[in-house]
Amino acid sequence: MSVMSRFDLSGKVAVVTGGNGGLGEAFAHALAEAGASVAIAARGHERSLAVVDTLRNAGHRAMAVEADITQPQAADGIFDEVEDALGSVDILINNAGICHHAPALEVTPERWREVFDVNVHGLWYCAHAAGRRMKARGHGVIVNIGSISAMIVNRPQMQPAYNASKAAVHQLTKSLAAEWAPYGIRVNALAPGYVRTAMAEVDKPEFKPRWIDDAPMQRAATPEELGPSLIYLASDASSFMTGSVMVVDGGYTLW
Ligand code: NDP
Repeated sequence: MSVMSRFDLSGKVAVVTGGNGGLGEAFAHALAEAGASVAIAARGHERSLAVVDTLRNAGHRAMAVEADITQPQAADGIFDEVEDALGSVDILINNAGICHHAPALEVTPERWREVFDVNVHGLWYCAHAAGRRMKARGHGVIVNIGSISAMIVNRPQMQPAYNASKAAVHQLTKSLAAEWAPYGIRVNALAPGYVRTAMAEVDKPEFKPRWIDDAPMQRAATPEELGPSLIYLASDASSFMTGSVMVVDGGYTLW
């Protein structure tokens, strides 16, 4: 197998949660360009359909599933719908996530729960539904989108609920990787630093000077810059890698 053919996802089916904007949209495009059929699962169906149109117009196989991953039954609904339309799911990108910027003493129990419901519980429901199906077929790849916020407290933005939820994602990644390796399922996490999306609010005047000061490369990534790293983890290029957290942060965690 040649080096470049290891990145080829032709014939594979991938699900991207939260694929209708930001990083998820860039991941959907990257997966499609690598040859995969792509399903995006998110709540905002109009935005999802717009992304699917762009993918189809570029000649790719794509579909959208309207789903709120905080609902435990939603995950099986996603996989049932995708299997009917595109075939068995080979790759799950657990990308959907939300952030809540507030110092610990200002976080209400409702907001805390909301962050964990999407970032941890929703991700777990999707991983569980995928894991059951992948185990039955003897192969599969799961990439969880973690964050450097699992490892450091980024100074300008106080976000304790988000930080704790992403630490849970990294640990869950390792636990599932260890348990599911015998079933032919690889589970890794991609931990980005600041990326220019709606979530990161990188240009807010109260945040920007501080994080720029902490960032060796003095800039945030574009979502598209994370695509190749995602393809590495989703493809046979990383065939001997499981339980890893791949940091792609422009050096942010060096200092
Ligand atoms: P965005 O806010 O741009 O996108 C978040 C996505 O998640 C949207 O597609 C949204 O779609 C979806 N989503 C949110 N809640 C749900 C839900 N209950 N069910 C289904 N889908 C949901 O954020 P980013 O693109 O920046 O973030 C993507 C991932 O990357 C997240 O996990 C985030 O934590 C992580 N990350 C981001 C970084 C950054 O700097 N931007 C850095 C490190 C990690 P909809 O609302 O339509 O459901």
